[in-house]
Amino acid sequence: MSYVDEVIDLVVEKNPAQPEFHQAVKEVLESLRVVIEANEEAYRKDALLERLVTPERQLLFRVPWVDDKGQVHVNNAFRVQFNSAIGPYKGGLRLHPSVNLGIIKFLGFEQIFKNSLTGLPIGGGKGGSDFDPKGKSDREVMAFCQSFMTELSKYIGADTDVPAGDIGTGAREIGYMFGQYKRIRGVYEGVLTGKGLSYGGSLARTEATGYGLLYLTEEMLRCNGHDLNGKTVVISGSGNVAIYAAQKAQQLGAKVVTVSDSTGWVYDKDGIDVALLKEIKEVKRARLTEYAKAKPGVEYHEGRGVWTIPCDVALPCATQNELDLEDAKALVAGGCIAVAEGANMPTTMEATEYLQKNGILFAPGKAANAGGVATSALEMSQNSERLSWTFEEVDGKLKHIMVNIFHNLDEAAKKYGMEGNYVAGANIAGFLKVADAMTAQGIV
Ligand code: NDP
Repeated sequence: MSYVDEVIDLVVEKNPAQPEFHQAVKEVLESLRVVIEANEEAYRKDALLERLVTPERQLLFRVPWVDDKGQVHVNNAFRVQFNSAIGPYKGGLRLHPSVNLGIIKFLGFEQIFKNSLTGLPIGGGKGGSDFDPKGKSDREVMAFCQSFMTELSKYIGADTDVPAGDIGTGAREIGYMFGQYKRIRGVYEGVLTGKGLSYGGSLARTEATGYGLLYLTEEMLRCNGHDLNGKTVVISGSGNVAIYAAQKAQQLGAKVVTVSDSTGWVYDKDGIDVALLKEIKEVKRARLTEYAKAKPGVEYHEGRGVWTIPCDVALPCATQNELDLEDAKALVAGGCIAVAEGANMPTTMEATEYLQKNGILFAPGKAANAGGVATSALEMSQNSERLSWTFEEVDGKLKHIMVNIFHNLDEAAKKYGMEGNYVAGANIAGFLKVADAMTAQGIV
């Protein structure tokens, strides 16, 4: 049996009931097969893959907190410190009822390669809790965050593990957690990213994932003989990633004709009015029906459907598994030339394969949405320097990072005989740097 297959079997056997983690390991290791086979003897002797798929440390703890009526609740919480070969653990904290150890391990494992691809010195980690901030009062959220950080603070620090936001962990939660860390440890340090601008946050972090997605997409198109200028772009979602992706696409001369939310989508053939979209989503927090009401000539549709609109470029920016095989067929039939993932895992495996087989340029989220974590790493640098860079400075560095990421994965794919397969290229480029650092540091 090949080393890759042995390790996949081992992961399934040793980590029962963690399907998302099995899936993530399988997807990554399958695409690394050619690289592993070329170095099989050395990697096997060092048990490199066994070490790669086993977190360095997994913290599981309870979080007791008191609600507004005096009732005590207990949530499960996790921090998986997966791999620190190239830098301190870095990855978000997800607060959602679906959170369990398998999901945190899947996200932490993916984060190792995403962080490596940024070219910045950050290792992979992820954490969270099955606490649901939706419907809770500010005091209840603060009670949870303080209790959560009381335990977590023993294991994190600016040079060891630097968590960030994720689903359910926004500016409010980061603020409460940062305050509690500072109170307990007595140090003012950049232990979390995604902070408010008044206490160490970075300019351009809000825009970073959407802008970064477009910088990478633009470079991928350019290197394949296309130009974003004048292209029609279809976007799903209307949250943080989607809004700033739309804004940057327009700045680069493209026309964005759709956005969606969890109930419906709009088709605006004249081009999405980003100022109006921001007003509706960021200020009024309303549905997209308001957009159609406010602008004449806009079509509103219930349900899903953005991928049926003919386009040159498709940017899924909402949620996982939102672009399936049928959608991929519609995109190909509509003349699409490129798909770049703003969300995490928005394209199903079958859809990805279909798009690649039909010659569509496909940039995986691991690379295409890495602008968020890259800018978090820039926030860490500013905190260490005790300086705040201007918006232009951060944005310039972000662009440079995204262009570099594209070239890294493009070159890795070429080097291993898979030219144009950016999924394989991303996994290979991310892996090689981590594997090299692990080898150099000995058996730890
Ligand atoms: P937001 O919560 O700001 O926006 C999510 C958007 O997707 C909303 O418009 C939401 O609609 C829509 N949506 C959510 N669920 C569904 C669904 N089941 N069907 C259709 N639409 C849906 O999140 P972000 O923009 O921050 O994140 C989007 C994706 O990008 C996620 O996968 C996230 O993990 C990923 N990502 C985000 C980064 C960041 O820096 N923000 C960094 C890297 C990845 P509604 O408003 O109706 O809920």
